[in-house]
Parts: sequence; C-alpha cells; structure tokens
Amino acid sequence: MALKNPAQIDQMRPAGKFVAGVLSSLRDVARAGMSLKDLDAHAHRMIDDAGAHSVYLGYHPSFGAIPYPGVLCTSVNDAALHGLPSDRVLEDGDVLSVDFAAQVQGWVADSAITFQVGSTTPEAQKLIAATEQALAAGIAAAVPGGRMGDISAAIGAVGRGAGYGINADFGGHGVGRTMHEDPHVANLGKPGTGLKLKAGLVIAIEPWFMAGGDEYVIDDDGWTIRTADGSLAAHAEHTVAITKDGPLILTARD
Ligand code: MG
Repeated sequence: MALKNPAQIDQMRPAGKFVAGVLSSLRDVARAGMSLKDLDAHAHRMIDDAGAHSVYLGYHPSFGAIPYPGVLCTSVNDAALHGLPSDRVLEDGDVLSVDFAAQVQGWVADSAITFQVGSTTPEAQKLIAATEQALAAGIAAAVPGGRMGDISAAIGAVGRGAGYGINADFGGHGVGRTMHEDPHVANLGKPGTGLKLKAGLVIAIEPWFMAGGDEYVIDDDGWTIRTADGSLAAHAEHTVAITKDGPLILTARD
C-alpha cells in the first residue's frame, strides 16, 4: 500500500476537481426523458474536452459478462452499484446513483452521488441523507492515528441507526495511479481495529445503503448490483487524503 507525500496529494487535486465537476454537471442536466446513455455521453464529452481518461470504459474484471461499456455507473432505484449506462429512460422521481472515476495527469479520483430526478419523495430523501451523513462520519474518522475500523464503524453506525440494510461485500478502496488499490474500506466494522491510519493514505470512502434488508442480487450482466428485496438503494463516495491536518476531500463539489 503506497502512501503519498504532500506533493503527490497536491498532484491528485486536478483529478478530484474534474470528477467533482462532472458529477455536479450530471446532476444539473439529468432530467426525466433522458436515457442513462445520454448521461454517459455527456460525461464522455467532458472527459474528451478535458483531456482526461476514463478508468471505467473497457474495464473487465472476471465477474463482468462484458467489458464495462461506459464512463459512468448509473444505478437507478433498486440498483445500488455498477449499473450499466443503458437505453433506460429516466422517469420523474427516479433515485439515480452516479459513480464516476477518471484519471487526470496520471492520478485517479473516484466519487459518487445519489439524487432524485425531478420530484422528490420523503422516503428516498431520508435514505440519500443517511448515506451522505455516513460518508461525512466516515471522512471525519479518517485521521492519522485512527484505525480503519473507526471509519467502517462510523459508516455502519449511521446506516444501522437509521434502520437501513448494509452489505459489506463492496466498499471503499485505496486510490492512486489506478482506481482500485489497497486497502479495502469496509462499510461495517469495529472502532479501534484494523489498519492504522497514516498521513499520505488516499482512500475512496463509499457507503451504500439499502432501504430494506442486507442482501443483494447481481444481474445476468455480472455488473448491476440490486437490493434483493427490491427496495431503494443509495450510494455516496468521496476520494479522501488523510493528511497531518486531517481529512482532505479531493472530490469536494462546489
Ligand atoms: Mg466510485
């Protein structure tokens, strides 16, 4: 696991800023009647215009039935993670999670937001808010001298406290020259356990909660992860550098 020095963390800022800007733009343009592919094309244009590089397009781990076909993960309603940008057309009130990572000047940043398209509902807004609160709690625990379990426990406490389903099979990860590096950042854990956190560690922290139970299912495409009970899911993620002055959110949005 590679620690970054302060100069390297500074070099990661453009990637973080770019990823944040794309997510903000997607939230601005997303509306009922657009397809997930339309959103993907919007992000792809921004990548091309910036001279950035997609780390999703063509990514083909063993579990995927096909190489990843887009530059975004677009997960709608009961889809939680890794939803493929398909021809599905967004409808008013859809709960849309967009996960986006890109490489800029040789460094990667990774971030995700969940929002409703058009009309909102209290049920979905409560779930989204809890996911964002868990992300904030996890980030607050990302300090030198702490333990990885402090981050995991902080996330889990918010989700369990709100009565939401959590599955720790998928979680956060180290980020650097590539998207997925050590260590794993679980969304459930015990305080005071696990890896000692040090300045220079850069991690993606990414709680995802399910409105119902803890179980998920995977579509035949090998990618899309859905709640097993059909309940809503939400996901929030930032790339965070642990510094001697505390957590630095590289993907902070304006
Ligand atoms: Mg991500």
